[in-house]
Amino acid sequence: MTVMIDGKALADEIVQDVAQEVSSFKLKHKVVPGLAVVLVGEDPASSVYVRNKILRTEQAGLQSFAHYLPENTTQKQLDDLIDQLNEDDSVHGILVQLPLPKHLSESRVIDAISPAKDVDGFHPENVGKLVTGQQVLVPCTPLGCMIMLKRHVDELSGKHAVVIGRSNIVGKPIANLLLQSHCTVTIVHSRTHNIESICRSADILIAAVGQPHLVKEDWVKPGAVVIDVGINQITSDGKRKLVGDVDYHAVFSKVSAITPVPGGVGPMTIACLIQNTLTAAKHQFGA
Ligand code: NAD
Repeated sequence: MTVMIDGKALADEIVQDVAQEVSSFKLKHKVVPGLAVVLVGEDPASSVYVRNKILRTEQAGLQSFAHYLPENTTQKQLDDLIDQLNEDDSVHGILVQLPLPKHLSESRVIDAISPAKDVDGFHPENVGKLVTGQQVLVPCTPLGCMIMLKRHVDELSGKHAVVIGRSNIVGKPIANLLLQSHCTVTIVHSRTHNIESICRSADILIAAVGQPHLVKEDWVKPGAVVIDVGINQITSDGKRKLVGDVDYHAVFSKVSAITPVPGGVGPMTIACLIQNTLTAAKHQFGA
């Protein structure tokens, strides 16, 4: 029987656990951990993500500081805000929602965030720590994928994991985390030859591409565990809906477990952001 991996239920569990820990943190340190979220411009998808992140932050009993900046914000204004948040003792985590408008440099912003407050785990110092196995703050989506995998795969060691996509925010960090769990890892991408046959050899298949229904039934090995990171908006029967990179219905009965879209990786990403904020606060208090 195939298991539908319920990211929403697991995310609720994580947020509840964090809320309990936040209560003891407050008692111990007389401080409420705080997350600053910065949104530049009015991209509709980004606005929804930011709203959900702030909602979850508050559900977990954390303090949230929302900074909505206009589309025409200059690099200097954004740099100044990051400096101010780095210095602010009530802010333990900083998240700048990406993508930024084209005239702003994402890498400059990522580099400017204090590594101790980098709850997205994108700062080069944190990337280096992840690659060398000393991580504290791990990118939220890859962390969420690993939590789901550990719940549904008894033994990751020795399994062949194939990651489709090599982005800095999803594909590469997931590959590193899988390596740390002793998987044999293959990364495939847009230039890979024979991608279907490589995917067919995967015990664990992670799709992080951004192409609706790229992964077909004949791309998966019977009994594989499939994690679908993709979020794609399509129009079907005149209605707009979200689908993943995997053809969920075609693949479902062939695999042992699979994440749905929506309701899989998405909610876990936000829950891991909340968890990372608590982790960052604990580290800033010497834990
Ligand atoms: P990206 O565009 O930065 O990277 C996509 C990767 O896919 C690239 O490495 C590219 O080489 C590869 N690729 C493109 N076409 C391919 C093909 N035909 N075959 C194989 N590989 C191909 O995207 P990203 O930021 O890594 O995001 C990937 C997807 O995950 C997107 O749909 C994004 O919306 C989604 N996403 C979801 C969450 C979440 O919380 N669920 C978080 C981040 C990203």
